[in-house]
Amino acid sequence: MRDNLILNATRKSDSIIEHQGNTPATGTYVLAAVAAIAAALLIMAQLSLILPGTALGIVTVAAIAAWGGLVLSRSGSPGQNALGTMAITTQTDAAFRVSLSELVSALPDPALLLSSSASVIGHNDAAQILFGKSMRDLPLEHVSRDPELIGGVKRAFEAAAPVTVRIVQWLGGERNLMATIAPLRATAHGRADAVLVTFRDLSSEHRALQMRADFVANASHELRTPLASVRGFIETLQGSARHDEVARKRFLSIMATQAQRMSRLIDDLLLLSRVEEKAYLPPSGKVELNELVAHVGQTLTMLAADKDVSIEIAPVPQRAIVQGERDDLVQVFQNLIENGIKYGRQGGHVWIETEFVPAQSGIKERIVISIRDDGPGIAPEHLPRLTERFYRVNADHSRNIGGTGLGLAIVKHVLNRHSAELKVESTLGQGTLFRVSFLRS
Ligand code: ADP
Repeated sequence: MRDNLILNATRKSDSIIEHQGNTPATGTYVLAAVAAIAAALLIMAQLSLILPGTALGIVTVAAIAAWGGLVLSRSGSPGQNALGTMAITTQTDAAFRVSLSELVSALPDPALLLSSSASVIGHNDAAQILFGKSMRDLPLEHVSRDPELIGGVKRAFEAAAPVTVRIVQWLGGERNLMATIAPLRATAHGRADAVLVTFRDLSSEHRALQMRADFVANASHELRTPLASVRGFIETLQGSARHDEVARKRFLSIMATQAQRMSRLIDDLLLLSRVEEKAYLPPSGKVELNELVAHVGQTLTMLAADKDVSIEIAPVPQRAIVQGERDDLVQVFQNLIENGIKYGRQGGHVWIETEFVPAQSGIKERIVISIRDDGPGIAPEHLPRLTERFYRVNADHSRNIGGTGLGLAIVKHVLNRHSAELKVESTLGQGTLFRVSFLRS
């Protein structure tokens, strides 16, 4: 069916070319074709690592157009219709056919094949998902009313040259797409016989770029404030307060606090970047959570004592072993318990409880650790954003008590790597509960 689709779209004839590898001339041609496609794919793969979207799109178009041109050019032979299929001979001399529609189906990005009258003569599943319907035989205008796309297709036919346009697709929310329209010609000159339109979704790239820009802006802002304060005090100490012993002591103490703030921020930034680097490496060690939580609780007793907060730990009697990396998990529970102390109430409590949750309805047995405080709590509108980098409910309060706004972002990344879940519940005036749920190892 697919072969017919291509044939009907381009030529009256429905004959099919089959190049068998048993004559030297054809064999050479076929080998060259395979080499050209392989080289194009290799270059595309290489460039996708180093080049931004536009360059990759152009290379993709060039590769596809080269392939299409190669196929089409065979139609010059009498009685042959190369848009239909070509056969590639393997070393074992067994031929297999590749049609343009098969190529379209194999493309990872949404792709449409349009006839010379701009009707859809083939598309892949990704295009069907993108446009929300099967588009076979529909005129382009019924697929998309985007004037950029319609104009781009017209230009590609007229100029017989690749055209790239940006369009916005609204199905299931706004999506920014780059459409690359590659003309396919049967002969070396003249109007194109068909065009291949491939779409690249730039939305996630845009989002990633925006997030990176926000992150750099936030990190610079966080560093700039204490740095400006330190510089101001240095100038004062070099100038008007040069001989003022009392001011000197006070300013030096403030400068030390600001320097600590900067170094905490840099430590957290480095930690976050290390955690992100390892995001796709599954943790290799085994960790016993009763021991780990007891250890972290111990390291935080001084901080708790400063705020007159009592830490109560309720372990499970059995060994609670999970697949994990100890240092990273220490960081997780340190951040969560420290937050319970820092944001909890003066003279309050932090309860840490471990429990086994038996397997049920297809969900495996889990070990859940809850960290609960009786502090002022968090308003519901903040809860979904708590794990974003630099997100704070009250930025000044967080900074004053040594927060960097990165603690829960680190927690989230480490837990993702451990395939563990983080849930947070909070009631204003009553306290906050963080629940970390691991698969039992
Ligand atoms: P920070 O370094 O500011 O503590 P986190 O990422 O650890 O950053 O936490 C983000 C924000 O979440 C904090 O600034 C604070 O407003 C809020 N928060 C975290 N834990 C608690 C808690 N137990 N009780 C109240 N608010 C909390």
